[in-house]
Amino acid sequence: MEKEIIKVRDKKFVTYLSSDDIQSQIARMADTINVAYEGKNPLFIGVLNGAFMFASDLLQKITIPCEITFVKMTSYEGINTSGNVRQLVGLAESIEDRHIIILEDIVDTGLTMAKAKNDLAAQNPASLEIATLLFKPDCIKEDIPLRYVGFEIPDKFVVGYGLDYDGHGRNLQDIYQLKDD
Ligand code: 5GP
Repeated sequence: MEKEIIKVRDKKFVTYLSSDDIQSQIARMADTINVAYEGKNPLFIGVLNGAFMFASDLLQKITIPCEITFVKMTSYEGINTSGNVRQLVGLAESIEDRHIIILEDIVDTGLTMAKAKNDLAAQNPASLEIATLLFKPDCIKEDIPLRYVGFEIPDKFVVGYGLDYDGHGRNLQDIYQLKDD
């Protein structure tokens, strides 16, 4: 793959995962899900904003009956020492007795997904799994099982394919890694 250097806002990034690699890996994830969830009518829950491209491309490769909805994890400064308090918002559907697959762009410390999973588990789904396109194993702090992982990546900031830097770069087809100077 030809390495391309691009600028997003004030930072330089270098090509890391090509669009072709991303699409092939998503196809493999979809194949596995199609087999595992046959006859279960899964409900996919995409986490906005970052997972919108992943959710769209994965769903186009799901061939079994399914549904999709989207939520947001709002983030605000808490008054306790743990700092960031997150809350899952925007879920209109009942998920009781449903087979749920959360679609996330990237799991870093795992705190966001731990909270999302906790909030959803309270509503008694039949099953609850996470599919994440990217996973940074070196950063994980919460012990959460990730059922479907696209790529394990090093602890470096990435942008593109739905992931942003300061609101920018979500539109890029490839995924780029922050360039060391
Ligand atoms: P966690 O709660 O797992 O630490 O963080 C998950 C969230 O942090 C992701 O949904 C994403 O918004 C953000 N994040 C973590 N690492 C990266 C990264 O390398 N690039 C971008 N653009 N966002 C990241």
